[in-house]
Amino acid sequence: MSAVWHPFFQHATEPQPPMAVRTEGAFIETADGRRLLDGIASWWVVTHGHRQPEIVAAITEATARLDQVIFAGLTHQPAEDLAEALIGMAPKGLSRVFFSDSGSTAVEVALKMALGYWRHAGDGRHRIAVIEDGYHGDTIGTMSVGERGVFNAAYDPLMFAVDRLPFPAGDGAATLAAFEELAASGHMAALILEPLVQGAGGMRMYRPEVLAGLRAICDRHDVLLIADEVMTGWGRTGRLWACDHAGIAPDILCTSKGLTGGVVPLAATLASERIFQAHSSIDRRRTFYHSSSYTANPIACAAGLAQVRLWQAEPMQARLDALGAMQAERLARLRGDDRFENLRQCGTIAAMDLKVRDGGYLAETGPRMRAHFMANGVLLRPLGNTVYVLPPYCATGEDLDLAYSAIASFAG
Ligand SMILES: *Cc1c(COP(=O)(O)O)cnc(C)c1O
Repeated sequence: MSAVWHPFFQHATEPQPPMAVRTEGAFIETADGRRLLDGIASWWVVTHGHRQPEIVAAITEATARLDQVIFAGLTHQPAEDLAEALIGMAPKGLSRVFFSDSGSTAVEVALKMALGYWRHAGDGRHRIAVIEDGYHGDTIGTMSVGERGVFNAAYDPLMFAVDRLPFPAGDGAATLAAFEELAASGHMAALILEPLVQGAGGMRMYRPEVLAGLRAICDRHDVLLIADEVMTGWGRTGRLWACDHAGIAPDILCTSKGLTGGVVPLAATLASERIFQAHSSIDRRRTFYHSSSYTANPIACAAGLAQVRLWQAEPMQARLDALGAMQAERLARLRGDDRFENLRQCGTIAAMDLKVRDGGYLAETGPRMRAHFMANGVLLRPLGNTVYVLPPYCATGEDLDLAYSAIASFAG
């Protein structure tokens, strides 16, 4: 018996998970000699490929000089260089970088920055607007701004109240109208959203025009926009940031997952100058009192910097375009298949819904699909009845064929 308690895993019904022993490129090798295609980039973290050589080398090199050093009152070159590079690549207007260690902490930091901003500005705004079916992490604060449901019902008494906007389907008119009214109330501190693609909510996609519309409403009513790019960042939607599709810049941007190429944990919350300046004061009560022990870990920062350098050195846009085209081709082949509906794509992400009678997250279809995919050498993890392929960027057409033939052969 193993002492390990796995995440999002039902120990009573699921078999002991296979032992991963080696990763390379788009594949995970297991102790029983199998080679699994990582069709979901190990929960959306792997960008270029597993154990990308430049990133691994940067880690080795960094460990020759530094390990964790306190970041309150000390700084180091890996963090300085990474922060500077991030600001250079981020949407315009973001000028400060706060490091933490996971997507959840990046979002918690963003929420605290937003509330701190309004408090220090002498304004009582404190309400947070969110979008239905959003996901921002599993800590109490991030669950509060995410969708409520079976995953977090037990913790409801600990969660704070937020204002919910409907999912922006179609032209997003209902969402924009609801937000306009809410924003005009003068109570909204910030709107937090996943730009263009809601990941955990079921790979739900909406138009860049809606994102631009929400930004315009934030501008009109002075509401801060927090873009949670934890999943969408680093090329996943076909551009470096999902915000780039709409040509907008948020006031606060959260990044993690692909930040180190999926090799080691690291996160960053980028903020605009006015948010930073509101915390910069001779009044020490305005200090941003937040830290995690491993904030700006030098080894993780070195990995992040190597990941960023790949974007600067490689023809990344061409690579993303090619992967997007390969996904589109394969998705098109499933169009005639009436077992699937809502076929959709945003950049490198392709998704479809399996028509099932027993839908929902607790449906038995999910585990059955997962087992079928594993038996066919592919790691895919449907969200309820939504099947999606979100591969590392090194995935070849042949690799994708493996995933799509496993999907097509699922008997239902
Ligand atoms: C995964 C995810 C998070 C949480 O990141 P962790 O590193 O798992 O804490 C937050 N926001 C979005 C959009 C995510 O996809």
